[in-house]
Amino acid sequence: MTINKNDELVIEIEDIGSDGEGIGKYQGYTLFVKNALVGDKVKVKVMKTKKSYGYARLLEIIVESPYRVKARCELAGKCGGCSIQHLDYEKQLEYKQNKVKNCLERIGGFHNEINMEPIIGMEEPYNYRNKAQFPVGRNKEGKVVIGFYAGGTHSIIDTTNCYIQAEVNEQIMKKVRDFLEEYHISIYNEEENKGLVRHILTRVGFTTEEIMVCFILNSNELPHKEELIQSLCEIPHMTSISVNVNKEKTNVILGEKVITLWGLPYITDYIGDIKYQISPLSFYQVNPVQTKILYETVLTYADLHGDEVVWDLYCGIGTISLFLAQKAKQVYGVEIVPQAIQDARKNAEINHIRNAEFFVGAAEEILPKKYLENAIYADVIVVDPPRKGCEESLLETIIQMSPKRVVYVSCDPATLARDLRYLCDRGYQVSKVQAVDQFSHSVHVETVVLVSKKG
Ligand code: SAH
Repeated sequence: MTINKNDELVIEIEDIGSDGEGIGKYQGYTLFVKNALVGDKVKVKVMKTKKSYGYARLLEIIVESPYRVKARCELAGKCGGCSIQHLDYEKQLEYKQNKVKNCLERIGGFHNEINMEPIIGMEEPYNYRNKAQFPVGRNKEGKVVIGFYAGGTHSIIDTTNCYIQAEVNEQIMKKVRDFLEEYHISIYNEEENKGLVRHILTRVGFTTEEIMVCFILNSNELPHKEELIQSLCEIPHMTSISVNVNKEKTNVILGEKVITLWGLPYITDYIGDIKYQISPLSFYQVNPVQTKILYETVLTYADLHGDEVVWDLYCGIGTISLFLAQKAKQVYGVEIVPQAIQDARKNAEINHIRNAEFFVGAAEEILPKKYLENAIYADVIVVDPPRKGCEESLLETIIQMSPKRVVYVSCDPATLARDLRYLCDRGYQVSKVQAVDQFSHSVHVETVVLVSKKG
């Protein structure tokens, strides 16, 4: 049996793909269907075929999934941000829990030996993000559009309100939009690499309520900035207004140079008792409510009593390191971005934490080097790598250092499972697995795993 382009088929959607699309099978042949939801029975038209899978367009929902809900945001189907807002939240959590479990089983080869804790979801899975980056453009009629990219494209969906962002963004965006229109400010055109305003970045401290607004410009100068400042300062808790200069023709949003127009060059926020200064360029977890839960889980799994030496690899601005330093004898952080390490050192200072030291460099280079040259030691090693996971050379050094516990924080269950298999084939075992929903309405899931030395 062959499936051809333009075939019209009826299938049942059984799974969710990595971009939130529905996945179903027709006589064993896998089809990816955008906007179809797990539990739907749908009629589709085949658009593109490969050897073992293809892509199809949704023509009609024949039987609607019992898990389908009305998305709160009417742009949810188009916007690239929330790919599964139309899926019941409990079902979103179940999907994420299963995603981790399946990866551990299929990729890691772990079976009944692992008992996962139930995933920790959000009580109110809306307005949770503390950071927004809105692209700015003009539509065909010449009107300013500010919003988000449509899924997989660079066309901007004009948005006045985003249900996963901090609520105050609505006010900020209105003021920014009025300002851009009233003073006829030039807007950046991506294709021509011409024009001024590229993106608007906002950050909100959920504990302190402090607000940062940063204009990403294709220049050093923002005309009529006094009028903008005056308008934005009408919003309570406005703390930092700045310009970031990015003159490159690139998809990378931020340039390196930041000029403070008004107020402080940073906002301050807390996770638990630790305070962090966050500048426009700093990496900072986007969901502060769940981050606190995530870090508390790391702390519990690390099981510190005050005399431990801990290495926190991929430490960013030292968020986890400082959290752990409260309970450890000494923490060492390693991070590849020099600016982040500057922030980490400053954050240690403002919290009067003296038992945390930071190193710039790749974890897979710094740790083996320090181990060979200085015979460094660790009771606990925490890793929080990007999606590609850890390099094997790093895992090899971890095995040689033989810590009692490894706490693995992961944003990709597939590479997590691969790395856990490496450790568990060399004297370690998975003791606890906790998934945390950091990114409600997206398909992403964060996981913390306690790996302990056997015996
Ligand atoms: N633990 C931090 C940051 C986690 S994000 C927090 O919770 O906030 C992952 C971090 O790994 C990023 O800051 C990234 O810059 C850094 N990184 C990426 N590759 C790295 C490598 N090879 N070695 C060290 N750090 C790396």
